[in-house]
Amino acid sequence: MADLFIDGAWTDPVEGGRRTIHCPADGSLVATVSEGTRADTEAAIAAARRAFDEGPWPLTPARERGRLLLRVADLLAREKKEFARAESLDTGKRLVESEYDLDDVIACFRYFGGIAGTDAGRVVDTGRDDAVSQIVYEPLGVCGLITPWNYPLLQTSWKVAPALAAGNTFVLKPSELTPSTAIMLMRTLDEAGLPAGVANLVLGAGPQAGAPLAEHPAVDMVSFTGGLATGRRVMAAAAATVKRVALELGGKNPNIVFADADFETAVDFALTAVFLHSGQVCSAGARLLVEDSLHDAFVDEVVRRAERIRLGGPFDPEAQTGPLISAEHLAKVEDYVAAGLAEGAVLRCGGGRPDAPDLAGGHYYRPTVLDGCRRDMRVVREESFGPVLTVERFSGEDEAVELGNDTDYGLAGAVWTTDAGRARRVAARLRHGTVWINDYHPYVPQAEWGGFKQSGIGRELGPTGLDEYREIKHIWQNIRPRPQRWFPDFPH
Ligand code: NDP
Repeated sequence: MADLFIDGAWTDPVEGGRRTIHCPADGSLVATVSEGTRADTEAAIAAARRAFDEGPWPLTPARERGRLLLRVADLLAREKKEFARAESLDTGKRLVESEYDLDDVIACFRYFGGIAGTDAGRVVDTGRDDAVSQIVYEPLGVCGLITPWNYPLLQTSWKVAPALAAGNTFVLKPSELTPSTAIMLMRTLDEAGLPAGVANLVLGAGPQAGAPLAEHPAVDMVSFTGGLATGRRVMAAAAATVKRVALELGGKNPNIVFADADFETAVDFALTAVFLHSGQVCSAGARLLVEDSLHDAFVDEVVRRAERIRLGGPFDPEAQTGPLISAEHLAKVEDYVAAGLAEGAVLRCGGGRPDAPDLAGGHYYRPTVLDGCRRDMRVVREESFGPVLTVERFSGEDEAVELGNDTDYGLAGAVWTTDAGRARRVAARLRHGTVWINDYHPYVPQAEWGGFKQSGIGRELGPTGLDEYREIKHIWQNIRPRPQRWFPDFPH
């Protein structure tokens, strides 16, 4: 089946490539999909360019664009079960998590559908009676959207919904590992009535199908979510044509627990923070910082409960977390744990693959706690993106903040304390894009999501999420044009 979507038509790749998709939970065959190359992406870019330059979409009133997004939300709600199932098969994540993701996807389309057209810009006082000055928003043009495998449809929606709300056309390149829901989304956008060429989908490996989106002069902006190394490459490639760039590159997020925290709740969330989706979450609380006097009791309890976490496939109702995305990724996580141990970390639980024969076909790794960690260790500084919790100790507020900020990233973090003043002081001093107080992981579409430092550039969601996908233009109009007499000697 042809599953590149270019210029409103399902298309086979120029070189006719195919790729098999396997479920990370058991290796079973999920799908065989088209494998595009550079030529396909270039065709998709040309279609998106035409649809922007000639098509009706950029000039469609913003409210009408919003109504289409609301229609998309309704269609997604109607097909939520099918989408969630497909997402679980591609990623191996529990069905219930995919269903939560779908709720967030639908909320995202509703949010951008709702705010499209609610802000028509502003009139600026010129201080004159012969001119008006106006600030208006315009679409950027063609957007290249590159998305990862951990939250495939959600990350896609965070880009597609604002890009469409602002009147852009786009080419989407999802992760080669998890293309199914991107294919389904194209059908939904088509059914909702999006004009041909506005939404285009290419599938294939990043360096072939993805790279042109950062390089091509006909693309106006590239929005990328993924790893730091690839993000740097995308940014460097985009520099050649001075493209607008939005990057979300993950984090090494401190979860800071003071001795006066509500013990039970903080333990509970410390586990969720890092082991949700087996740690394959950009905002995972993989770096636990515990105040000295609480350390032993807190870590003992985290370990006791981490050891009991049940691993299983997407449709196992008893499973509490699932597999890693691929054998390569599993090997990378193993490597980080080995490096941590070599640098002196103490293995408190996990540290290997599970023994259970029914998990042997999947890419599972046991929830792992490494105690006695130091900030200079590789496993503390870099994203393992797996179910690996590193534990460091601190003494007092200043050291907590200093450690929490000692990272190249700056995506998210949390502080646990019953001292309201301290909670606000620490939150204010942490250099991270999102700080949770006595909580971990919640977000709402109305609030911006984005990172400080090397976690990225730009914001997703919230009103400024829309700004990432539009130009802000100043229009000055002389409303009483008349000859200028500045040069009386100049012949008129
Ligand atoms: P990548 O950053 O390589 O992949 C993300 C997306 O970029 C995928 O669609 C990928 O395609 C594409 N891509 C890869 N190379 C290029 C390129 N040269 N030009 C344009 N697009 C490209 O992530 P990985 O899957 O390799 O994961 C590596 C690490 O990144 C993880 O271990 C984790 O630490 C981090 N990560 C962070 C995420 C986040 O949410 N911030 C999400 C996922 C990973 P393809 O799939 O075909 O390679």
